[in-house]
Parts: sequence; C-alpha cells; structure tokens
Amino acid sequence: MADSIMDLTPKPISGKDCTQHAPDIPGAAADISGEKDDKTYIIEIDHISKWFGDKQVLDDVSLFVKKGEFVTILGPSGCGKTTLLRILAGFNLPTEGSVRMNGTDITEIPPHQRPMNTVFQRYALFPHLNVYDNIAFGLKLKKVDEDSIDKQVRRVLKMVGLTDYEERDVESLSGGQQQRVAIARAIINKPQVLLLDEPLAALDLKMRKDMQLELKQMHKELGITFIYVTHDQEEALTLSDTIVVMNKGKVQQIGKPTDIYNEPVNPFVADFIGDSNILNGIMVEDRKVLFMYHEFECVDEGFQPNEHVDVVLRPEDIYIMARNDKGQINGTVQTCIFKGVHYEMTVITDHGYELLIQDYNAFEVGQEVSMIIKPFDIHVMHKERFNNSIHGTLKDSAHIEMLGGLFECEPVEDIESGSDIMVDVEFEDIELMDYTEDGGAAGCVSFILYKGNHYQLTVTSDNGDDIYVYTNEVWDDGDIVGIRILPKDIRNIRRI
Ligand code: ATP
Repeated sequence: MADSIMDLTPKPISGKDCTQHAPDIPGAAADISGEKDDKTYIIEIDHISKWFGDKQVLDDVSLFVKKGEFVTILGPSGCGKTTLLRILAGFNLPTEGSVRMNGTDITEIPPHQRPMNTVFQRYALFPHLNVYDNIAFGLKLKKVDEDSIDKQVRRVLKMVGLTDYEERDVESLSGGQQQRVAIARAIINKPQVLLLDEPLAALDLKMRKDMQLELKQMHKELGITFIYVTHDQEEALTLSDTIVVMNKGKVQQIGKPTDIYNEPVNPFVADFIGDSNILNGIMVEDRKVLFMYHEFECVDEGFQPNEHVDVVLRPEDIYIMARNDKGQINGTVQTCIFKGVHYEMTVITDHGYELLIQDYNAFEVGQEVSMIIKPFDIHVMHKERFNNSIHGTLKDSAHIEMLGGLFECEPVEDIESGSDIMVDVEFEDIELMDYTEDGGAAGCVSFILYKGNHYQLTVTSDNGDDIYVYTNEVWDDGDIVGIRILPKDIRNIRRI
C-alpha cells in the first residue's frame, strides 16, 4: 500500500480553502421547466424518504412530472429507483413525504385504485393463458362486454406489433414478444401514467434497441405519461424527455438528456453518463482554469479566485494531432482501438495524465501527439468537498472515535473528553489497507473516480460516513478496506 501519494493535484496558487462545500442539486425539490404549478404536473413526488429497518434507501426525493412527459429514473444498482417506482405505484409506503396525482394526495391509495399501470422487468404473464386472454384479463375482471374487449385487445395488439398473435401460447414467444404482451396488458386500461421498471433488461442488445424505438413511438401515439426506470445511461439518453439521475437514494440531477450530458453537475453524473475525463483543476479567475499544468480558457464564471474544481472533458472534445508546437498539451499514444465509427485512444501527457480521446483518425501506439481543448468543451464543476470533515467523539486527550473506529490523535488540551468534535483530514492523508487494525475503522469502497493520474475513492465507513480518498492503488467497488490516518494528519480538531 502506498504510504504517501505523489503530486496528485496541480499546486494551489494561494492558500487552501478548507470549508466543506455542500453540492447544489438542480431540479431536486424544484421545478425543472418553469414555475411549479399544480395543474401542470400529473405527478408530484414531494420530499419522499424511505427506510427499510435502519437502512435509508430514499433520502428526500422530490420530483415533478408533467402530463405526457417521458421521465427516466436512472442510476446504478441499489440506488433506490425501484423503491421510488413502487412507492409511485402504491406497492410501498414512504416513511416520509407524499405523492400527489393531478393535485390529489394518493400516498396511501392502494395500487389497483390508481390510474396507473406497471410493466415489470420480468413480464409476469399468466403462463396458462394465450396472448389474447393475457391482454383481456383485466377487462374481463371488470366485466366489460366481449365486443368492446375484442376491439380493445386488437387495437393494443396492433400498437405493440403483435397482430395475429392472439392465439399463441405466451410461453412460445420470445422475450421481446412477451414484453410486448406485458406492455399491451398495461396500456389496455388506458392508464394516465405507465410505470416501467427496467422493462427491456432481459432482452438481447438488438431486441432492446428495436424495443426502445417502439416504446418511444408508443409513447408518442398514446400521449400518456411514462415513468421509466433503468440503469442503462444510453437507454435513458435515447428515450427520455427528462432524466432523473439518482445515487445512494438521492437525486443528483434532473434535466433534458443533452443538459445532463453536456452540463453534469458533479463527478458522479459526469462519470455515469457517457465516457469522460475528470480531472482536478484550479479556477484561476473567471474563464481561466488550470489543469494538467496548463492554463486553459473556458466559458465558466462565478467561481472564487483559485477555487479547487473538477474539470470534465468528453473524449470526443479533445482535438488530437501529430506533435507540433500548436498544441496546448503534448503526450504519447498508449492504446488505440477501432470502435466502428471512431478510434478510441489513451494518451499519457508529458506531465503524466492519462486521457481518453475519441477521433476519426487513428494515431499509432507510441506516436507523439499534441492536443487542443476549446473553451466551450471544458466543463468546470464546483467540488463537492475540499477535504473530509469528519464527525467524532474525543475519548481522551489522545484518542478520537470516528468512522466506527478508534484513532490516535496529537494531544488535545482544551476540549474535555466525551465531547462531540469535528476534524479535517485531507483526501491524500488516508491510507486504505486490505485488513482492519485492532479497534481500527473499516469501510467499503462505494464509488471510484479516475482522475487522470490517481483514483478518487468514496469509502463508506462502518458507521455510514462517506470519506473521499486519493490513492494510486487499484481497488474495486465493494472492497472492504481498513482505514488508517496518522495522528499528524487529523487536523483542526474542534468542538461542535
Ligand atoms: P436495482 O437496479 O438493482 O434493482 P434499484 O436502484 O432499483 O436497484 P432498489 O431495488 O430500490 O434499488 O433497492 C435499493 C436498496 O433498498 C437496496 O439496497 C435494496 O437491497 C434495499 N431494499 C429494497 N427493497 C427492500 C426491502 N423490502 N427490504 C429491505 N431492503 C430493501
């Protein structure tokens, strides 16, 4: 394990700002397209939180959905998207918050009384019924007359491209065809809202792509509101009017696909949506940002002078050419792979940063190249935090309990034992180990971000606190790690 980390960040031009920066979450609990007006929104999810036992799965989620919109809830496995959809459908109750539909509180209304239907990942068809009877089932229960059922079944069969499949045994159908039956069954009741939980996840790639186009077409024809859950960012970008990016039970960003791709609000979104290079930088002044040891012109404003920032560069936005004196940065090609339309290359800059670049031209491995990045293609983001501010308890003048373990600290004289305290620890001052020391803290690697010349890990400690760690070591998502911090690196110990 590396004891110290080499020069990981560009050097600050002036002193460090040690305040913790709370991220803004655009769109969360706020309107995304004008003033919030109850008549505009078919669904209002209002400050929903959900706990299962002592585990919080949704954390203050707010979202307003317009009539006829195609909204996709996108996030990695376990982020709480299905739980949110189940609360919308009425299968789960939120611990806090409410759901309104057309202005009426429906939080406690049972699923079958809500004018919405759900399509699940597993099709949940009746195996003993044929296609026609599967689709007609709900209407038969409602005792709708047979002529009307027949008309409606044929109408939806046409819509999902299954005309002439009425008599087929559902088990003889392909996955894609079964999913069409499930969709037909969900839309025959003309729900105002269709909820779709990863409906294409079980299909192969080709079928998934075809069904995506068909779903989009169906949404247009039906004119009803679709709320769609997926972990597939490409699917979300293809289908949606609005994407809601979630992580760890929280809304990260709400916006149009192009906004989410071009203007991610934080490294999580930038990393999750599409390929990106995410680097540490310093905003020297408005429209001037320093990263990779070069001062670049950019279009971003509204930062403090010399504020530490995260910089996002999309691989297709880095111009690459044979080495010349016109480049802003120089490097050497490490890998070059043909991806069908473009070449994907990794380049190591002369200062040791690894960049992912996509270009229509191939540059050979080992070739010396120059690169240009235009101001518009540099996206600067506020950092979510500048160091780790950790909550703990002073056990005695030389020990602090925090992160679920006991840490030795430098002598503390003016705070009595037992006090609640905060301390600051720099990202590069935390060492991760593949074992836990006696009485020491442990955690789980919950997010990994590659920053060009080091990794930024989020480690969720045993007591639930998230800490950021800079490291050159390679860890995997889900790794259990011991956490070591030397006494000298536990700084600014203060009572709260
Ligand atoms: P996936 O894409 O893997 O389905 P997701 O984003 O839809 O993930 P959820 O299914 O909402 O996530 O689950 C969020 C978290 O809540 C997970 O850690 C899951 O284990 C937990 N969870 C979900 N349902 C329950 C339950 N009934 N009891 C306890 N924990 C639950």
